Order: sequence, then structure tokens, then C-alpha cells
Amino acid sequence: MKTIILASNNAHKVAEFQKLFAPCGIEILSLKSMQINIDVEETGATFAENAILKAEAIAALTQLPVLADDSGLEVDVLNGAPGVYSARYAGIHGDDAANNAKLLYELIETPLEARTAQFVCAIAYAKPNEKTQVFSGVCKGHIALNTDKEGGFGYDPLFVPAGYSQTFAELGNDVKNTMSHRAKAFELLIQSFS
Ligand code: IMP
Repeated sequence: MKTIILASNNAHKVAEFQKLFAPCGIEILSLKSMQINIDVEETGATFAENAILKAEAIAALTQLPVLADDSGLEVDVLNGAPGVYSARYAGIHGDDAANNAKLLYELIETPLEARTAQFVCAIAYAKPNEKTQVFSGVCKGHIALNTDKEGGFGYDPLFVPAGYSQTFAELGNDVKNTMSHRAKAFELLIQSFS
């Protein structure tokens, strides 16, 4: 069976990639199962650069094929912020409530029609001595005026995808997975294996 390492310490992501690749007969190994205890610094200016940094660092270390992803939210009127800083927009990594509160504050004077935004996901696939491939997905939408919605993670309670009137949090994962940035990048990645 072919094996690929996923350069992530996030157990949810590992499970998601394992589920995606199981039908292809590909085993996804976590960094933990390889006893690799490294947090590659995300110093890139774009999601693709960060995904490449992570995948290539672990591929160089293990000499094995490695996948890595990076994603986040870009708000047009904020010139693409929070962008690569999405997870730590308000200062503390992964503080979703604070990140959402900061985003609403930054947009306090921005009317609904100007609150356009997009989620972006980049997945890098690095193999030793080969050029790294990148698969990207984008989901366009807008930022709601407020959030009292439960569910989802990150900016899900604030993001309304184009063509819908409810947020990702309200729509739920089944609907989100038909159109999300991650689903689109996954689709391109899987196509490259067939
Ligand atoms: P990461 O790529 O998993 O590190 O995600 C970076 C950050 O982007 C997350 O912490 C979230 O704040 C945000 N983000 C990425 N994808 C999503 C999504 O599908 N929904 C909500 N927030 C997301």
C-alpha cells in the first residue's frame, strides 16, 4: 500500500485526509505516528507558500512523499486580511471567538454589499527530488453583519457563501463540503491521483 505523510499536528485533519484517501488505497500517516515532533514555521506570504514550506520540510527530513495544507479567509475591503494570519488574527492562535469579534469590529463601518470575502485552501504535495505540486480551492461569499450563530469552526459563523443567505455554520458540514475551498482543493488533489 502506498503511504503519504500528512504534515499536520491536527488530528481532525489527519482523519479527514485518511477518509479521503482510503478509497484510493493510499494510507495517510500522521507526524505523530512517524514520531516527528516538528512545528514548521509558517513564514510564507501566501497559503501556497506555507503549504509548500511544510510539505518540503517534512519530505526533506523523511525522504518520503508528504502532503500539507494551509487555508484561511481573505476579506476584500481589508486588502486580503486576515489572510495567512487567519488562525491568529486577534493574537492567540485558534481563538475563534476573538478572531470573529475582531473581524466584525474591523468591518463595523462596511455595508453588506462591500463585505465580500473568500476562503482559500492550498494543498502542497512534495516528493523527494521532484517538483512540488500545489492544488488550490477558493470559495467566494461575504461576511455577515453579526454573529449569533452556533456551529462550524473558525469564521464559519460569519461567512455566507455566494448564492446563499445562511452562514457556513448554519448550513452545516454536508452543504459546506459540496462547495468549500477545502473540498475544491481536495477534488483537484484526488483527480491528480487517478
Ligand atoms: P488552517 O489552515 O487549518 O491552519 O486554518 C487557518 C485558519 O483559517 C483557521 O484557524 C480558521 O480561522 C480559518 N479557516 C480555514 N478554513 C476555514 C473554514 O472552512 N471555516 C472557517 N474558518 C476557516
